[in-house]
This record gives sequence, C-alpha cells and structure tokens, in this order.
Amino acid sequence: MLDIASLKELLAKPKRIVITTHHKPDGDAMGSSLGLYNYLIQKGHHAKVITPTDYPHFFDWMPGNEDVIIYTEQTAIATAIIEQAEIIFCLDFNTLNRINEMGEVVRQAGAYKIMIDHHLEPEDFDDWRLWNINACASAQLVFEFIVDVIQEKNLINKNVASCLYTGIMTDSGSFRFPLTTSTVHRIAAQLIDAGAENSRIHQLVYDNSSEDRLRFLGHCLSQKLEVLYDYHTAIINVTQNELDKFGIITGDTEGVVNFALSITGIKLAAFIIERNDKVKLSLRSKGDFPANEICKKYFNGGGHRNAAGGHSNDTLDNVIQQFKTILPEYKKLLIQ
Ligand code: 5GP
Ligand code: MN
Repeated sequence: MLDIASLKELLAKPKRIVITTHHKPDGDAMGSSLGLYNYLIQKGHHAKVITPTDYPHFFDWMPGNEDVIIYTEQTAIATAIIEQAEIIFCLDFNTLNRINEMGEVVRQAGAYKIMIDHHLEPEDFDDWRLWNINACASAQLVFEFIVDVIQEKNLINKNVASCLYTGIMTDSGSFRFPLTTSTVHRIAAQLIDAGAENSRIHQLVYDNSSEDRLRFLGHCLSQKLEVLYDYHTAIINVTQNELDKFGIITGDTEGVVNFALSITGIKLAAFIIERNDKVKLSLRSKGDFPANEICKKYFNGGGHRNAAGGHSNDTLDNVIQQFKTILPEYKKLLIQ
C-alpha cells in the first residue's frame, strides 16, 4: 500500500506509466484516461494509454488519441510496456476481469497500481485508490486527483479539460443523472474555464453518427421494441444478422437503451444484443431499481444501480426469455 506522500513523491520525477481502462471503453473510460495522460505528459512522464479493445470513433478527436495502444491489435508491444511500467493507473473499472486477458498481465506486473474508479465492490489488486461510488464519472475523480490530491490545478490545460469534460458529460447523461450534483457543475465550469469547448464537445460526441447508425436506431424503435406495461419494463433485442445488415460498428449501439427508458412510466429498460460468441445485456433503470443486481445475479455482470451490464453464453431467444422470467421477482419494485 502507498500513502499519499509516497504517491506524490513517486509522481514528482518522470516514470514509465501505463493508463488503462475497461474493455469497449466509453466516454468516461477514454475521457478519464486521456485526461490523466495529458496531465502526466506535462510532468515529463513516459505515459501510454493502453485500452483492452477498440472504442467508438466519436472519441477519436480527443487529444492524445493518436498515441493510444489497443491491446488486441498490438498485444506484444502492449504486454512489454505493461511489464516494464513503474506505475499502472486503472481507470473506470475495479475488477481485473473488466480488462479481459490484459487483467492477468496487469496483475503480474511489478508496477504500483493506482485505481481511480466509481463502481461498486472493488477487487483488492491496487496499491492506492481514489474510489467513490458517489462520483458521477471517473473523470470527476481524475479532476479531484489532480486538483485536490496532487494539488496541481495549474496543469489542467485545454487538452486535460476537454477529455475530463467528455468523461463527465457522457457518464452523467449530459448532466442529467442523479449524481450530477452542484459540485459536478462547478467542476464542469472549471473545465470550461480551462479551455474545454463544451458545445463543440457535445457535437463531436453526439452529432457524429453515420446514416446507418440512425437507420439502425429507427429499426430498433419501430421493429424491435417490446413494452411490458405490467412490469414497467421495455426491451429491445438485436440479432447478429441485424448488426451485419446495418453495418454496425463499435459505438453504434451506444445509447439505444436510453430510448426504451424514456417511455413514460418505464422503470427498467434492457438492450439485449447477440454478438458472435455471446449475448450482451445493457440495463438501465430509474430511481432505486437495482439494475446491477439483476446483472450480477443472473448475467455474470454488474455495474451501477441505474446502469449495468452483463452477458450470457445462452442463445438470444433464451436470454430474452430468462430476462422476462426474472421480472416477477422484482414486480413490487417495478410497479411501485
Ligand atoms: P453498458 O450497458 O454501457 O455496457 O454498461 C453500463 C454500466 O455497467 C457501465 O458502468 C459498466 O461499467 C457496467 N458494466 C457493463 N458490463 C459489465 C460487466 O460485465 N460487469 C460489470 N461488473 N459491470 C459491467
Ligand atoms: Mn464511468
């Protein structure tokens, strides 16, 4: 275990640093990672962001993106960099299975491991952590790490600010989810003051769809939405064939589940998607309904109360059926 003084001392001189985040990185994963990256390189560190898998193209504009290594595409180089690292920052995840086969490489690495995260139930693999489940985004915690822990607010430049703003914006659902406190808005204000162009960032992330993606969304809403009014639940399922037909690429399915949740009175929404080797579930809920509990109990997953995910090795039809048979167990919570 490290204490804050030793951590500060460690970061005072240039080090070989790896920053990593969960597989299929989202805006918070990339925003917190590249935010931290742009901060560390100003201090002379040799930092590398290594993602376990690829990520949506609408995050490609982020400063530092050109230096990111994708583990599945450059496995040997990435493994060597992890093995030689002195410090590994683990951002926006807290169990090593969230970084797939990279997990064991990180576990075995001799580096100090620093976890900055806001998910429930962290595994014990780190030497120091900034962990707060009440943070709306890991990017919020990276801001607090730089400003409050290391006390280097002066190093929040335009690049750092743009990345951290992206993480907070995406994980807070554009500043509307319950953890979007006045503190979050004050941090966002400081990021804008530091150079984050908020309107431009919203456009780069949200108004950056292909025609295929929009038509796919239309197909999901008009053909694949099933509303179970008795359970205040809505489901959208998608087959691998449909993904192929619409030429769906990484990131294109992001946000579809939120449309199902936006129906008046709906408390639980599920997006169930058939991927070559498995079926992936994305659940979203309103209020105190524990979407993560369903994912953990039945679908090898977890997450936050209102946003959770999991997977199954069963067929798509069976997973849909299984999901429906679980609902009576939660009926009271769903209809209250
Ligand atoms: P998404 O539905 O966008 O894939 O994930 C929503 C939330 O659930 C994210 O915060 C993510 O960290 C979490 N999550 C998704 N899949 C898994 C999983 O397999 N295991 C765990 N523990 N969390 C997950
Ligand atoms: Mn996050």
